Amino acid sequence: MSPQLSTDGVTKRFGGVTAVDDVDIEVEQGEIVGLIGPNGAGKSTLFNCITGALTPNSGTVRLDGEELSELPEHAVAQQGLIRMFQHTRVYGEMTVRENALVSTAEDAGLAGSLTPPGDSTRERASELLEYVGLGGLTDVKAGRLSFGQQKLLEFAMALMREPDVLLMDEPAGGINPAKLNQLIEYIRDVNSERSVTVLLIEHNMEFVMEVADRIYVLAHGETIAEGSPTEIQNNERVLDAYLGRE
Ligand code: ADP
Ligand code: MG
Repeated sequence: MSPQLSTDGVTKRFGGVTAVDDVDIEVEQGEIVGLIGPNGAGKSTLFNCITGALTPNSGTVRLDGEELSELPEHAVAQQGLIRMFQHTRVYGEMTVRENALVSTAEDAGLAGSLTPPGDSTRERASELLEYVGLGGLTDVKAGRLSFGQQKLLEFAMALMREPDVLLMDEPAGGINPAKLNQLIEYIRDVNSERSVTVLLIEHNMEFVMEVADRIYVLAHGETIAEGSPTEIQNNERVLDAYLGRE
């Protein structure tokens, strides 16, 4: 079986810095894969290469066997690969519902943004906002939500776009412990109920060990380990990288 998402020798340099260095990763359909590594390891840059926000200096990215490397970001999103950002990108002056509705319009390009959302889109927005616990706040301006609620709104916005693969950059960052368990449930649920494959960057070890089926570890732009959460927790190179012993 070929992987749903793969990178093959992806390298990205910024001037003299090789942020991502010959990285191969493979994500199978239905998996929840974690991507961890110390600050500056190249995790977000790898995400940007996968989503088309950055063009790698070399290497290829494939989704369902099709090369994505030359496609612009919106075209990649249309292929079903949707990403969430490290810093939330909700529109503070728009209501929660408007945020959910506008997220799908972006994928449709200019024409989509000029066409009012249809009934089925509105229904899906209501259903998803209800699902993430924002059903009672649909008419509130998104800027008034707590940080955790904004993250959940962003999650609903990503789901509005019906991802096949969802890339999440530090979803647990800044979320309080009570909401963390909820987020784990949502991710698992979306993975099993909506068959969304998940690739997530995370700093919170407890969180990633709990939610991921498999983990890749990056350090200095290179993959230094790959394995189950248990294998990663007992990997010497990983400990070295985190403790700065490399
Ligand atoms: P991580 O997400 O693992 O913390 P990043 O991918 O953000 O790491 O950064 C990897 C390296 O690339 C760092 O050394 C960072 O300073 C550098 N870097 C990232 N983005 C840029 C950019 N746009 N311009 C120059 N250097 C960058
Ligand atoms: Mg980052």
